[in-house]
Amino acid sequence: MTEVERHGYDVVVIGAGGAGLRAVIEARQRGLSVAVVCKSLFGKAHTVMAEGGCAASMGNVNSGDNWQVHFRDTMRGGKFLNNWRMAELHAKEAPDRVWELETYGALFDRTEDGRISQRNFGGHTYPRLAHVGDRTGLELIRTMQQKIVSLQQEDFAEHGDYEAKIKVFAECTITELITEEGRIAGAFGYWRETGRFILFEAPAVVLATGGIGKSFKVTSNSWEYTGDGHALALRAGAKLINMEFVQFHPTGMVWPPSVKGILVTEGVRGDGGVLKNSEESRFMFDYVPDVFKGQYADSEEEADRWYTDADNNRRTPDLLPRDEVARAINSEVKAGRGSPHGGVFLDIASRLPAEEIKRKLPSMYHQFKELADVDITKEAMEVGPTCHYVMGGIEVDPDTASSSVPGLFAAGECSGGMHGSNRLGGNSLSDLLVFGRRAGLGASSYVESLVERPAVADAAVDSAAKLALSPFDPPEEGVEENPYTLQVELQQAMNDLVGIIRKAEEIEQALGKIGEIKKRIRNVTVEGHRQFNPGWHLAVDLRNMVMVSECVAKAALKRTESRGGHTRDDYPQLDAEWRNKLLVCSVSDTDSDAAVPAITVAVQEQLPMRQDLVELFELEELEKYYTGDELSGHPARKE
Ligand code: FAD
Repeated sequence: MTEVERHGYDVVVIGAGGAGLRAVIEARQRGLSVAVVCKSLFGKAHTVMAEGGCAASMGNVNSGDNWQVHFRDTMRGGKFLNNWRMAELHAKEAPDRVWELETYGALFDRTEDGRISQRNFGGHTYPRLAHVGDRTGLELIRTMQQKIVSLQQEDFAEHGDYEAKIKVFAECTITELITEEGRIAGAFGYWRETGRFILFEAPAVVLATGGIGKSFKVTSNSWEYTGDGHALALRAGAKLINMEFVQFHPTGMVWPPSVKGILVTEGVRGDGGVLKNSEESRFMFDYVPDVFKGQYADSEEEADRWYTDADNNRRTPDLLPRDEVARAINSEVKAGRGSPHGGVFLDIASRLPAEEIKRKLPSMYHQFKELADVDITKEAMEVGPTCHYVMGGIEVDPDTASSSVPGLFAAGECSGGMHGSNRLGGNSLSDLLVFGRRAGLGASSYVESLVERPAVADAAVDSAAKLALSPFDPPEEGVEENPYTLQVELQQAMNDLVGIIRKAEEIEQALGKIGEIKKRIRNVTVEGHRQFNPGWHLAVDLRNMVMVSECVAKAALKRTESRGGHTRDDYPQLDAEWRNKLLVCSVSDTDSDAAVPAITVAVQEQLPMRQDLVELFELEELEKYYTGDELSGHPARKE
C-alpha cells in the first residue's frame, strides 16, 4: 500500500488564484472545512499578475453603464457563442463582487468625487475596469488572503486553532482526482519539496487551476499553467468545451528574446496609447470588421476626441476586441510593415506627459526600463501577439459551477463557456469573483445534501502513485526521453501549427506531432530522487499539457469557420451554422493507468438564449451572427 499523508475536508479547492480564494471564502462562510492547495507559493498565481483591472458595470465614470450593456459587450466579444446564462450572471453580479472586495479592505483607485475609478478597455462600451494602477490582480489577491486570515482568526477564537476550518497547502501539486462510482472522493498529489505523497479525502473538489498557456512557445503565462485542472477533470470523466478558442493577446513584448511574450497591458491603449506600423500609420482604422462597422471611430480626430468625450464620439479601433487587434498586427507584420523585431509599435510617449505615464502605468514603465532598456515615456514599445488565455474549459452548470461529475466543481480560467470564442479584457477578474463564489456555494450545498460520503479505495491511491512515479521507472530500457525536449517540441508545434492563424493541413501536422509525443511520453525518464526534482515535476505536468493540446488541435480542426480566438485561413468567414455549436472534448477511457488517454470531440448544440435577453439586441445586429430560422421569434421580425 502506498505511503501517503492523509487529510479529510468537506471541500478541497485546487488553486489559490482569484477563483480559488473566492470559493474558499464562500465555503468557509457556509461553515464547511476547506483545504486550499496550490502548486506554487500561496499568493503566486496568474491573478496576481493581472494588470488592467476588473470589469463591472458600476457606472462610476459613465452613468450610462449597467448590466445590460456589459452583457451585450460580453456576448459581442465572444461572437455570441458564450453561455448566455453565465454572461448574464456575470454582468449582473460583478458590481456586487467588487463592492464586497472593498468591505474586505481593497483599495481601488478613485474618481475625483471619491468613487471607485474605472478605465477603458477593448470591447467595453464604457470605462468599466475597476483598477489599482496596473497592479489590480495583486490587490485582489492581497485582499482575499487578508479575508482568509480574518476568518482564520475567528476560527482560532472559536476552536483554538487557526487552521480549524481553512488550511493552505502550498507548493503541493495535485496529480489525480479520485472517484468512487463516478462521484468525487478525493484528490491525490505530492509535496514539491519532499516529493512525498498527499491524499485529500473529500466529497467535493473545486478546480481553480487557471490556464494552459505553457503549451505554447510564446506566452504571457508562467510555469504553472500546464492545463492541470483541464486534464484532471477530463480524466475524472468531466467534459471540456470551447477548447479551440485560445486568446492571443495582441500586445506582448517581442524583444529581447528572453522576455518575448511577457504581457503589455491593454491599459496602455485604454489610457491613450495607439498602435502604429513602421510607416507611422495608425493601421487599426483599416481593420474594423463588418460586424463592428459603425461602432468605432473612422478618423484619428474622432478617436482622439473619444478619450475625453465618450458620449459624443465613437471609440478608437485600437480598442477593438483582442482577437481583431491580434489578427491586424499579424497582417501588418506579414505585409512587411512591422517593427525591427517582428512586432508593431505601441506609442504612449507622444500621447501623455511622462509623469502621467509613470503614475498610471508604473509596472509597464519599470518592465520596459528593466527588461528591454526602453523608456516608454520617451519612445514607442515594440509589441506583438502572445498566447494569453484559454476560453475553453470544464463544462459547468452556470448557477452552481458543478461539472457533470458529482462533487466536481470548477471556476475561473479552467472553466469554459462564459467568454464564448473570445474574452474581453477585465472580464476574467470579474469572472473569478462571480463564479468563484458560486463554486464555493455550489460545493457547500452539494456536501450538505450528501447522506453518505464516498470512500477513497486503496487501489485508486496505489494507481495514482504508480502513474506519478512512472518517470523514475520507464517501461522500455534504452529508449529514454527527456521531459524538457518533449515540452519544447510540443510548444513549438502548438505555436507554429495551432497558433493565431490556422489551416487544416497544419493542424493535422500538429496532431501527428502530438500523437508522436504521446508515444514518447511513456519513456520519459528522470534522474535522481523525489526531493525537489523539477525534471520529475515537468514529466508529471507534461501529460496534462499533451492532453489539453490534443483537445485544442482536434477542436480547431473540426470547427470549419473563423470566430473569435479561432482563425482558419482556409475558412476565413464567421459561419452562422456554427454559432450555437459547442465542441465537447472527453476521454473515452478514464482508466487511471492510461498515461495520456485519447480525446474524442463531439458536436453539441447550446440552449437557445432566453427571449428577454435576445431582445436586448437590435435584430440588425443579431442577423450578423444568427441563422434566419433562429431569429424567427424576434419581435422586430414578427412585425
Ligand atoms: P490563477 O490565478 O491562474 O491560479 C491558478 C492556481 O492554481 C495557482 O494557485 C496554481 O498554483 C494552482 N494550480 C495549478 N495547477 C495545480 C495543480 N495541479 N495542483 C495544485 N495547484 C495547482 N484578466 C483580467 O480580467 N484583467 C487583467 O487586467 C488581466 N491581466 C492579466 C495579465 C497577465 C500577465 C496574465 C497572465 C493574465 C491576465 N489576466 C487578466 C487574466 C487573469 O489574470 C487570469 O485569467 C486569472 O487570474 C485566472 O485566475 P484563476 O483563479 O482561474 O487561476
